[in-house]
Amino acid sequence: RDQRPHILQAGPLMPYLEERLNARFSVTRLTDLPERAGHLAATGHDYTAIVTSTFLGLKPEILDSCPNVRLVASFGVGTDSLPVDHATKRGVLVTNTPDVLNDDTATMAIALLLACTRNIVANDRYVRAGEWRLRGDPPLGRSLRGKQVGMVGLGRIGLEIARQLEVFGCEIAYHTRTPRPDLPYRHEADLETLARMSAALIAIVPGGPATHHLIGARILDALGPEGVFINVARGSVVDQDAMIAALRDGRLGHAGLDVYDDEPNVPDTLAALPNVVLQPHQASATRETREAMADLVLANLDRFFADRTVVTPVVPATRTS
Ligand code: NDP
Repeated sequence: RDQRPHILQAGPLMPYLEERLNARFSVTRLTDLPERAGHLAATGHDYTAIVTSTFLGLKPEILDSCPNVRLVASFGVGTDSLPVDHATKRGVLVTNTPDVLNDDTATMAIALLLACTRNIVANDRYVRAGEWRLRGDPPLGRSLRGKQVGMVGLGRIGLEIARQLEVFGCEIAYHTRTPRPDLPYRHEADLETLARMSAALIAIVPGGPATHHLIGARILDALGPEGVFINVARGSVVDQDAMIAALRDGRLGHAGLDVYDDEPNVPDTLAALPNVVLQPHQASATRETREAMADLVLANLDRFFADRTVVTPVVPATRTS
């Protein structure tokens, strides 16, 4: 029998991480088992840690069928798909992978913003379809310099986006529950006011009940027909139907989206719109960042099995959970 710690892996993870997990631990991949409930009922007590991701999530029932698990190590920073409070009540540590993905998530937000304001994707289609030759130059884009960008969320990633946007000459204002007087940006307690004053809104708050449909028709109307909405947070943060209607009716100018309700299903009504730029949840998806995230998952597991502490614990019921 394999004497190494037994780890339950919730589903497929990137090969770089799976190879390193298999080199250290005795790993069982839950999604490979034909009869998962039966397996867990018989052997759930063997596992001491569970590895998952924000994409795979973790059902509380799975955790409950593994009474000796003391760590849930997740790949990704978002914790909305993890039973953090339930785990904590059971004395189980939960870890995520913050900070190492700030830079790439920020550059994706800015890439989407520029793609919208400079019509990069629409103009690419224009050239490919031969329309440049037939119809001449396309409509003008918009400059970002001197414009206000409204950050909805100014945590680890939001702050990185704000700093990078300074290079483009943008004014930064932000909406969060708690002002950050240590920062050189203007706090706006009222999200509708922020939207009205901004050329673009960038959503980068956690998902979950506290931010569900934080951005609805009223906020999108305040952003207006010239406004750009960027979402690199979670699909649940915006009322997707209201956003599609506003984009279709011209009440909202553009949207650059990395996240959706019910991924990977993107409604045809959204995909058919000319004034959107769509990404398949790629904000942290560079080789460098994904490997750094994997290394942090491994560092949490290694430290846990060395001295029962972890590197990046998710603290429940705080600002960052
Ligand atoms: P942080 O916890 O560092 O920051 C969260 C920010 O959101 C804080 O400024 C917080 O301020 C604000 N916030 C939280 N709740 C609310 C609320 N109800 N109303 C207004 N503001 C709120 O998180 P990160 O920056 O590390 O990550 C943010 C999220 O981005 C992740 O949880 C994840 O869901 C998403 N993400 C998406 C990625 C992608 O691939 N598209 C990649 C990485 C992250 P305050 O508490 O003061 O309100």
